[in-house]
Amino acid sequence: MEFFGHVIDGAEVKSAGGETFTSVDPYTREPWAEVALGGPAEVERAVAAARRAFDEGPWPRMGRAERGRLLHRLADLIVANADRLGLADTRDMGKPISQSRGNDVPRAADNFRFFADHARLTTAETLPMDSGHHAYTRYDPVGVAAAIAPWNFPLMLETWKIAPALAWGNTVVLKPAEDTPASATILARLALEAGLPPGVLNVVHGYGPDSAGQALTEHPGIDRITFTGESTTGRVISAAAAAHLVPVSLELGGKGANAVFADADLDNAVNWSIRAIFTNAGQVCLAGSRLYVQRPVFEEFMARFTAAAEAMRLGDPKLDTTELGPLASETHYRKVRGYVETVSDEGGTVHSGGLGDGWFVRPTVITGMPATGRHQREEIFGPVVTVTPFDTEDEVVALMNDTRYGLNAMLFTENLSRAHRVSARLRAGTVWVNCFFIRDLRAPFGGVGDSGVGREGGTFSREFFTEPKAVVMQIT
Ligand code: NAD
Repeated sequence: MEFFGHVIDGAEVKSAGGETFTSVDPYTREPWAEVALGGPAEVERAVAAARRAFDEGPWPRMGRAERGRLLHRLADLIVANADRLGLADTRDMGKPISQSRGNDVPRAADNFRFFADHARLTTAETLPMDSGHHAYTRYDPVGVAAAIAPWNFPLMLETWKIAPALAWGNTVVLKPAEDTPASATILARLALEAGLPPGVLNVVHGYGPDSAGQALTEHPGIDRITFTGESTTGRVISAAAAAHLVPVSLELGGKGANAVFADADLDNAVNWSIRAIFTNAGQVCLAGSRLYVQRPVFEEFMARFTAAAEAMRLGDPKLDTTELGPLASETHYRKVRGYVETVSDEGGTVHSGGLGDGWFVRPTVITGMPATGRHQREEIFGPVVTVTPFDTEDEVVALMNDTRYGLNAMLFTENLSRAHRVSARLRAGTVWVNCFFIRDLRAPFGGVGDSGVGREGGTFSREFFTEPKAVVMQIT
């Protein structure tokens, strides 16, 4: 079995007491990697190393161009190691290799390139004042950032946090999800190879409660917490951050609504709607898990959508041809299976799909589910979609907004006015019109309600990972 250690102060290390845990490959259902299991002692060492690197090391002082050069070198190494990194995520959580190596790894490299360039090129405010003074803004690094990541896009989401934190001159302690530890250690090894000084990027493995995650979020030496994960965990982390008045960014769960109007380009709508719910076996915070189709096209859409769902290739996620892998872990499989098995109890019908072998759930389409049913309200986080017909624009806007989440929504229409009108009325952090998951890293990303607090991306990440300071000068 491969071994993945913590990376603290420039060295890959075991836990003080030698404790480990294993990562299980959800396709073979066998352990494939042994991982150092950290706790308060390892967090203490990592935070101390990050603090030293910030207070005494060259990183915050070396300037954005030089930091950017090193972060670009790290991006180059990520691309050069795409096979290893992609396979690590695939073995940890069953994501098809075409998505991990093909999408997440290039995006991880782009995260470093984008934030390195953004920090170097972005301008700050100068405010000429009538009083004979002027004010300007400095964006200074804050210190040590704690990053806590989920298992569904391990490398991609870890780098989405690490890259802006580092680009703006901070140091980082990352706690990856316990189901997906491998790519984080590989990334930290590559960061050292790229020339990042010791202590700038530290990785501590472990669980959440009563383990490394809790120890990190409760540590008084942390200056920022950026968290992506479940809404319930977000509440716990928010409370821990409040104890030390530490700013926290929360990217939480979702229950994405997707409306197909009768005037939509149906080929395009089917294509994106399939991707919206079945990419990464539906284990996507943005998943279009509530699909609403206007009644005149309901039958035709359903026929095409179901045919496309049934044509998806399930299998070994290590094969380039596989489109849908197993669910990420046994625990998660059991949770999703629970939803599939209770569809009729809640008043719905499994139109197609259902349980597969091992930890597979086939692309599952549910009809007839009442709006109050659990399947319409709770985040299932699997390849399971409810499809509901609607008649009017007002009706579908009300249905789409009838959720405690508010991460994203999609709508499909060829009517330009409707696209703008409905987008404005939806309560969501992102609205995609005639597409899904297209990202510009300058755009705000985050959710309303139970989907999160704060936004990340471009200047939004800068606001979070820096202390904006106003300097006011007398000029006359
Ligand atoms: P999770 O909340 O169970 O775990 C996320 C991380 O938090 C893990 O590293 C875990 O060890 C750690 N953790 C758990 N309890 C903790 C505690 N008390 N203190 C400190 N750390 C703790 O989430 P998950 O199951 O890994 O991820 C799936 C969830 O993430 C879904 O709800 C999904 O929608 C959400 N998600 C959101 C986004 C977004 O951008 N909004 C992106 C991806 C995933």
